[in-house]
Amino acid sequence: MRRPLKQQHSHKRTDKHDIDLFDSLPDDLVVFILSKLSSSASSPSQFINILSTCKRLNRLALHRMVLSKAGPKVFAIKATNWSEYVHRFLKQCVNSGNLDASYTLGMIRFYCLKNRASGLSLMAKAAMKSHAPALYSLAVIQFNGSGGTKRDKDLRAGVALCARASLLGHIDALRELGHCLQDGYGVKQNVSEGRRLLVQANARELAFVIRSVTSESPSRAMTWQGDYSVFPLLSDYGYSMAVPEVQPANWFMREWFESGPGRVELGEGLRLCAHIGCGRPETRAHEFRRCSVCGKVNYCSRGCQALDWKLRHKMECSPEELVAEDNDGGADDGNEAVPQNDAV
Ligand SMILES: [Zn+2]
Ligand SMILES: [Zn+2]
Repeated sequence: MRRPLKQQHSHKRTDKHDIDLFDSLPDDLVVFILSKLSSSASSPSQFINILSTCKRLNRLALHRMVLSKAGPKVFAIKATNWSEYVHRFLKQCVNSGNLDASYTLGMIRFYCLKNRASGLSLMAKAAMKSHAPALYSLAVIQFNGSGGTKRDKDLRAGVALCARASLLGHIDALRELGHCLQDGYGVKQNVSEGRRLLVQANARELAFVIRSVTSESPSRAMTWQGDYSVFPLLSDYGYSMAVPEVQPANWFMREWFESGPGRVELGEGLRLCAHIGCGRPETRAHEFRRCSVCGKVNYCSRGCQALDWKLRHKMECSPEELVAEDNDGGADDGNEAVPQNDAV
């Protein structure tokens, strides 16, 4: 869509009688086209390049309607590309009512910039409009008391937020809710209902991956058991698939803390959630639960632990290191993780 526009616009008037068709398009039509583009752009650069094309496109691409429609992939920003300009762009999108921008900037402010209050209010803004990832992220914060002390944990609020997110189709939230019911964590224990939800989460995941495969995404192609890039939970059904796409905000956090500015900021004793698709850091020492067998890996949630167990940790976990690690106190609620049952 961008190319014809650029071609039309960069077309020089060789003759003063020629008409530049782009100039003759009314603003509202261009805004409409740009809105379609921003909602379907597959990367930040695909949209942001428009801003530097010419003054008119810069002005119209920053129109409230265009920014409000920008899809999540427009916010798949690399942590190494973070700048005041990108921050300002996200703020403009938030001010235009874009929920994905509220969620993304909320996560970045809360975890990476350590501006907890502002991050929380941005996530809450998205959650109030039923943005499922924002509801789930607030649940994880409640379960851990992130940004506060362990007395700030509110397990019941975490379960309630997970329930709302899972009703909106959020698979991680459904899985988390299943584990909470199974373990009686923040809610009255109901093992059979918990297991039912876990099976449902796996089934939804299967449906999601099959949809992705049939929509011709080569990175998610179905593969038989073998290499590292298998889809963990589906091993229960006898086959494996490529790992699903990690959400942009989660990638940003992982990059920020592993190779970006957060590498130094992530103070001693604080750890990242070991699940590759998460990227959440601890906000205080021993915040996350840890594997009770090896004591070497830490998780922000039961859902992350279950996924990582099936994806890779069951191949790596061994009890021999536990003695040395035991001296660090472990998870601060004394509710350390246990190895996951492969059955669910
Ligand atoms: Zn996690
Ligand atoms: Zn382990």
